[in-house]
Amino acid sequence: MEKKNLLQLQDIRGHSYGDLVKYLELIGEKGFRATQIFEWIYQKNVWAFEEMKNLPQDLRDQLAKDFVWKPCKIAKKEMSKDGTAKFLFDLDDQEKIETVFIPATTRATVCVSTQAGCKFGCKFCASGIGGWKRNLSAVEILTQILYVKAEAQRQQKSLSHIVFMGTGEPLDNYDNLMKAVRVINSPKGLNIAARRITISTCGLVPKIKKLGEEGLQVELAVSLHGSGNEMRDPLMPVNKKYPVSDLIAACREYNRATGRQITFEYILIKDVTCTDKAAVELGRLLKGLLCKVNLIPYNPVPEFDYEAPSRNRIFAFKNQLERSGIHATLRTPRGKDVSAACGQLRHAV
Ligand code: SAH
Repeated sequence: MEKKNLLQLQDIRGHSYGDLVKYLELIGEKGFRATQIFEWIYQKNVWAFEEMKNLPQDLRDQLAKDFVWKPCKIAKKEMSKDGTAKFLFDLDDQEKIETVFIPATTRATVCVSTQAGCKFGCKFCASGIGGWKRNLSAVEILTQILYVKAEAQRQQKSLSHIVFMGTGEPLDNYDNLMKAVRVINSPKGLNIAARRITISTCGLVPKIKKLGEEGLQVELAVSLHGSGNEMRDPLMPVNKKYPVSDLIAACREYNRATGRQITFEYILIKDVTCTDKAAVELGRLLKGLLCKVNLIPYNPVPEFDYEAPSRNRIFAFKNQLERSGIHATLRTPRGKDVSAACGQLRHAV
C-alpha cells in the first residue's frame, strides 16, 4: 500500500492482512496491531474504530482519518417460512443487490452476490433479466457476509459456509472475488475453511483454468444444465463461446491440477433437461471425471414458461444417472416463498 492510497480514504475491509501490516509500519505502528484490527472486524464483527478497545486512542484516531467504513444499507429484509432470509442491500451508487441467509440447525450458509446484475442471460434465471451493471468490489462482497454473520450470531448460529451463488458470475469478477476469498479463508480473517467456500460458474473456461492454478482448496460448482451442446446452447448463451467439450476439458484439467472433485449443477426442467435420454447422455459426458451432480429442480421465475418436473420424473432421472456410476444429489430449495431460491435472485431496480 502506498502513502497516496492512504489519502484516498478506502474502506479498511478492502485491504489484505499483508497490506494492513505495511500500512501500520508506514505510520510507525507495530505489525501485531493488524491482527487485532482483523479480529475486531472479522471475528468480533465491529464496524467502527472507536470500538476497537485494545488499540491506543491515537491509533484509533489515525485509522479513522485514513479509512472509511462504507455503509451497508439494508433496503429490505424478507423472511421465508423455512427460516431463510433475503436481504436487499442499497449500494453507494443506487445499485441494489440481494444476499441470502440460509440457516441450518446450528450452522448457517450465506449465498453471496458478486455482480450487480448478470451479463450471461441464462434462459431460466432471473439474475440476467435486468442486464448487467457492474462488478462488486471486494468490500461489497465482504460486507454482505459480515452483515449476514451478525444475523447468524443473533440466531445463535455460526456462519460456516459461503456459496457464491447469488446474482452475477463470480469468475467474471475474478480479482475482487479472490481478494474476498482470501480474507474469508484467512485464519486472521473470517477463518472459514476453503472447503466450505463454493464458487459457482456458468462455465468460463479460461477462469476455471486460472482457478485451478491458485492452489486453493475451494469447492468449484459448474452450472452445466445440459447433456450436450444441443441442449445447453438454447438455455445458456455462454455455451456458444465455451461449448461443452471445452468446458469438460477444463474441468478434467481442474481435477488434475487440484485433485478436487467438481460439483456439476444440473437444472431439471420438465420436458427439456429431464428426459431419460438426457440422463444417459449426461452419464456418458461425465464418465471418468472426479465429480458429483447436484440436481436442481427448476424454481419458478415469472418471466419464463418452464415448469419443474414431477417427483417421479426427478427420481427417475437421478436413478438413471446413478446407474451410469455418477453420484447425484437433489438440492432442496430454500426460501422459495420469498423468491430467494436458486435462480430467483434478481438485479433489483
Ligand atoms: N453465475 C453463476 C452463479 C449463480 S449460482 C453460475 O451460473 O453458476 C445460481 C445457480 O442457480 C446456478 O447453477 C444457476 O444456473 C441456477 N439457476 C438459475 N436459475 C434457476 C432456476 N430458475 N431454478 C433453479 N436453478 C436455477
